[in-house]
Amino acid sequence: MSQQPPAPAGSAGEFLHDFLLAAARHSPGAPAVIESAPPGGTTVTTYAELDALTERYTTGLRELGMETGARVILESDTTAHALAMLLACSRAGLTFVPVSPETPADRLRSVLATARPALHVQAPGGIREHLPGTLGTARFGPDGLTVERAPERHRPRRRVPCVTDPAYIIFTSGTTGRPKGVVMSHRAVTAFYRGMLAHRIATPEDRIASTSPLQFDFSLLNIGLALGSGASVVPVPQGLVRWPRRLLRVLRETGATQVNGVPSIWRQTLRHEPERLAALDRLRSVLFCGEEFPLPELRRLQQLLPQARIINCYGATESMACSFEDVPNPLPEDTEKLSIGVAHPGAEMLLVDEDGAVVDEPGVPGEIHLRSPALFSGYWDDPEATRAALVPDPLCPQSGQLVLRTGDLAFRGDDGGFRFCGRTDSQVQINGNRVELGEVERRLTDFPGATAATAMALPRRDGGGLQLTAFV
Ligand code: ADP
Repeated sequence: MSQQPPAPAGSAGEFLHDFLLAAARHSPGAPAVIESAPPGGTTVTTYAELDALTERYTTGLRELGMETGARVILESDTTAHALAMLLACSRAGLTFVPVSPETPADRLRSVLATARPALHVQAPGGIREHLPGTLGTARFGPDGLTVERAPERHRPRRRVPCVTDPAYIIFTSGTTGRPKGVVMSHRAVTAFYRGMLAHRIATPEDRIASTSPLQFDFSLLNIGLALGSGASVVPVPQGLVRWPRRLLRVLRETGATQVNGVPSIWRQTLRHEPERLAALDRLRSVLFCGEEFPLPELRRLQQLLPQARIINCYGATESMACSFEDVPNPLPEDTEKLSIGVAHPGAEMLLVDEDGAVVDEPGVPGEIHLRSPALFSGYWDDPEATRAALVPDPLCPQSGQLVLRTGDLAFRGDDGGFRFCGRTDSQVQINGNRVELGEVERRLTDFPGATAATAMALPRRDGGGLQLTAFV
């Protein structure tokens, strides 16, 4: 018998790039990304093309000789090229840190100071300047990877990539004013994708419009849902999401069958363009995440899109998400709170009271603790915050197994599904964006003359969610 090569570190399907590009092997000609190309057209990238582009960028990255696990800031909107770039980072054993082109300079500076990346890459039209001289810089696009300033070369310390290595880091609001980097391993994110796909949310025929900026993991959820199902991602340019007519035009022209975004993306459209929305007859589903959907707006959406399956996705960046629950259609008159369901297959949500005891009775609130193979590894360079969020499994603390303490409060409904009912801390969701009120207060007191500040999330007067309010 011939000598077998050593087995790869972990099963191949547990690497992000292998998982997302699986369809390139069995359906190479299927559309992976459909982008709107004004006026009125679309640009289609097939799975085979996405795979080839990924390989091209991977070669470019490998030539730079960065060590395994080096961080690459990926500053871009969601595009086929950006997708290939993040897949290339994964294939090259690098950790990508998605950042939006709209990220304020100060915020990017603190992300750079925390993540200490080796390279910053942006799309050809990107306008980010004044990056620290120690950082390599490059652009990616139709001409491949164009290096402007090579990253510093260290003594090569390349190692075999393992599925437990960080695939990406997503930075969210942190109470101390320093952004919190949620580190997600290949194994965790692909475990999440498998749990999500068990809900059969998409088929290969679907075209999934993703309205979230690349820096939020909601866009990675959409990418995983689309590519993991052999379907297509339809990235909606960020500049269009807030303009109802333009948003609807992109959805129509790209033939989107599913639209995924935070609830607030629907507000202006429901108000100003109900007829055009109702005319989207190819739309079969809507998935929302990030905050509660105000019920009057949700009812209106159901009236206008009676054919659509509406899915309430609950969860946090620390596990990408955790549950997917169909909203009853139509929503019964007496509904006061939507169910967030139970965790996806392979995971379990537990409610834990203030004394650490597991709560099982319906109606009694507790803090959601998530048992799951899809948990983040920790907060980047922040062991204290990590210890507070990853805690011993309340069911068996002796086992050494850790679970995610979410900070979310919920109670169990009579149907067994959970109902979200607030937070244990001062984290709030504003238009689906996670905000630590403590961070806002710190920023405000940076202003000369502001000696104290209090931030709050107050209900909007028009009934649509919360608005950030501060007193100085
Ligand atoms: P995501 O990007 O998945 O929305 P974030 O980390 O930005 O995650 O925010 C997570 C928080 O948002 C949760 O801890 C919870 O408080 C809130 N949240 C997320 N989804 C929902 C939902 N469907 N219903 C109510 N609250 C939600």
